[in-house]
Amino acid sequence: MVHFVGAGPGAPDLITQRGAALLQGADCIIYAGSLVNPALLGLAKPECAIYNSAEMTLEQVLDVMRRMEAAGKTTVRLHTGDPCLYGAIREQMDALDADSIPYDDTPGVSSFCGAAAALNAEYTLPTVSQTVIITRMEGRTPVPEREKLASLAAHGATMVIFLSIGLIDKVQEALLQGAYTQDTPAAVVYKASWPEQKIVRCTVGTLAERTRANGITKTALIVVGDFLGTQYERSKLYDPTFTTEFRKGEAR
Ligand code: SAH
Repeated sequence: MVHFVGAGPGAPDLITQRGAALLQGADCIIYAGSLVNPALLGLAKPECAIYNSAEMTLEQVLDVMRRMEAAGKTTVRLHTGDPCLYGAIREQMDALDADSIPYDDTPGVSSFCGAAAALNAEYTLPTVSQTVIITRMEGRTPVPEREKLASLAAHGATMVIFLSIGLIDKVQEALLQGAYTQDTPAAVVYKASWPEQKIVRCTVGTLAERTRANGITKTALIVVGDFLGTQYERSKLYDPTFTTEFRKGEAR
C-alpha cells in the first residue's frame, strides 16, 4: 500500500495526526526533499528506507513503490503542504492504478494556509473579496492561455501565487495589467512556519523591488489583494441583528 501524505508547510508539528501515524508505521518514505522539513523523518522507524525524490525521476519513484509493494511493505510518499496543489500526484496515482497497487491520500496544511497564518490574515473578507485564486506564473511549466496571470488579475480577487518568486518582475507587470493598482497591498511570505520564515509586506508597485531587497529567491508565496488592507465590513454571521439557524437576531 502507498500512502500519499501532506507534510504541511514546514513546521514538523503542522502535519496531521494521521500523517504522523503513517510516517511512524512506514517501511519506506519517499519525501520531496526540496521542501519537506527533514525533521519529519525523525518519526520514521529505524529500519525505514528513506528516499529523497528531489534526486529521482517519476520512473525511479515508481520503481521503489513497486519493489516495496512486491515485498508487502508500506510506502509513504511525503509531499509538501497538501499534495493536491502542484504535487505531481496524479501521474503517480495513474501508474499505481495501472499496476493495481492500492493507495490513499492524507491531506496536509497547504503553504497558502501557512502564509495566511503567518500574516494573521483572512483571505475572504466581506465586501473585499470572497474568492481566492491560486495560481502560478508561467515558467518552464506552461500555463493554459485562458489562465494567464494578467487575465486572472482582472478579477481583483485575493490571489495566492505559487512557484513564481523567481519571476517577480513579470508577476508585478501582469498584476498591474489586471485590476490591481500600484497601491494594492501585497506580501511575500518566505518559508511560512519554518524558523527562518520571513514576511515582506509591500504593495503591488513595490513587489519586485522589496522581494529583491530582502534576498528572497525561492520557497515563497506572493499574496495580493485588498484583504491585506484596512477596509472591510464585519460578518453577518456574528452581527447581533442577524438571525441564523442557531441564534435569534436582536431588533435594531
Ligand atoms: N503542495 C504544496 C505546494 C508545492 S509547490 C502546498 O500545498 O503548499 C512548491 C511551492 O509552494 C514553492 O515554490 C512555494 O511557492 C510554495 N511553498 C511551499 N512551502 C512553502 C512555505 N513554507 N512558505 C512559502 N511558500 C511555500
